[in-house]
Amino acid sequence: MNGKSPDCHVAIVGAGPYGLSSAAYLRAAGIETRVFGEPMAFWQNQMPAGMCLRSNWGASHIADPKQELTLDEYCRQKGNHISRPIPLERFVDYGRWYQSQAVRDLEKRNVLNIDLAERGFKVVLADGEEFISRRVVVATGISAFANRPAQFAGIPSELASHTSEHNDLRKCKGRRVAGIGAGQSALESATLFKEAGIEAEVIARDQTLNWVGLHARLHHLGVLSRMLYSTRDVGPAGISRLVAMPHLFRKFPRGFQDRTAYRAIRPAGAGWLKPRLQGVPITLGRRLVSAATAGSQLLLKLDDGTERLVDHALLATGFRVDISKYPFLSQSLLKQLNVVNGYPVLKRGLECSIPGLHFAGKPAAWSFGPLLGFVSGAEFAANELVRSITRHNGNR
Ligand SMILES: Cc1cc2nc3c(=O)[nH]c(=O)nc-3n(C[C@H](O)[C@H](O)[C@H](O)COP(=O)(O)OP(=O)(O)OC[C@H]3O[C@@H](n4cnc5c(N)ncnc54)[C@H](O)[C@@H]3O)c2cc1C
Repeated sequence: MNGKSPDCHVAIVGAGPYGLSSAAYLRAAGIETRVFGEPMAFWQNQMPAGMCLRSNWGASHIADPKQELTLDEYCRQKGNHISRPIPLERFVDYGRWYQSQAVRDLEKRNVLNIDLAERGFKVVLADGEEFISRRVVVATGISAFANRPAQFAGIPSELASHTSEHNDLRKCKGRRVAGIGAGQSALESATLFKEAGIEAEVIARDQTLNWVGLHARLHHLGVLSRMLYSTRDVGPAGISRLVAMPHLFRKFPRGFQDRTAYRAIRPAGAGWLKPRLQGVPITLGRRLVSAATAGSQLLLKLDDGTERLVDHALLATGFRVDISKYPFLSQSLLKQLNVVNGYPVLKRGLECSIPGLHFAGKPAAWSFGPLLGFVSGAEFAANELVRSITRHNGNR
């Protein structure tokens, strides 16, 4: 391959909201892209049927440069009504519709390996095709980062599984389940269990449950509301405004950024879940000391000395970014990457320490703040890519 011109200008890996949106913006700016991945695969395969989005309507449009591919336009064209909160299945269909409009030539193939090449990156696809791309945008989301607490190491997945291993919780019918965690995923899974007639208890180390969206009144105060809340819908009053401006946010001292990011996305349930959760047993302020198999069941010991014998533990324990877990990044590439706490350190244009390699979505959150972990951050990401790539055009 030495000396060969790149076959492609930008390869985008991933066809979720970030990959699709980035492709739409780059193409509108006249930049040639190839886009890879199954559209909306994470939402379709790794979230439970019956779930609803936590983000509100205005923060759930997948950004496109002409602002034509909104949820409203999808409803208009398809003659569909979408209830609120937005049901998962509708959002998946919307994402696929977006893809059919903006990225018709999506290549529904997986990327197996990305390595450095003389004039860019060598990209190897799962079906064996290889090509050189001048730039690569990694937009592969969080599915590789599912966090499984140490107590469950060695417990088979039939007895303890992460929420991202499921797209239908009704499979637990007839089993007694313990849900571990206090975020939206834990609370919504417990609600779905209850509604399917499955016995479930929520166990969390948090002392109290946090809720978002309980102060609807604050969103209807006109100018004042607009001063307190950004339409991006990430974080509480005030913080919502700050994290919606990633360039400003990243100028603050690291400690402040970390604390504010935590406050913006700490474990919390959407207010609309609260009444539906009624009747589900919830144990708060308790740490899990151990988990051990007991015949065909699982024995959980808590730090108050109590025990639970259950058929299954559902680990709603979130995701921890660690880009070394992306299986397609070569070792030589990983060695050259400047990484902090598992996140790539990015400069403007979402570009990492290796020129030409960009990260969109949650891995960009250490450098650009919590907005980048949500659908509503895709517009910022796509604009950053366009600005940086058009500026460097022809430089590599
Ligand atoms: C339970 C749950 C609920 C959530 N609810 C919300 C919400 O209400 N609102 C919100 O804004 N955010 C929500 N999020 C966060 C959500 O994950 C992100 O907003 C969103 O997925 C980010 O989009 P993305 O494009 O970065 O990643 P993804 O949507 O995960 O897309 C990544 C894509 O990359 C593809 N891919 C992966 N590996 C490869 C490969 N090797 N080759 C090719 N393609 C590959 C996948 O197939 C997938 O299509 C939720 C997350 C979870 C877990």
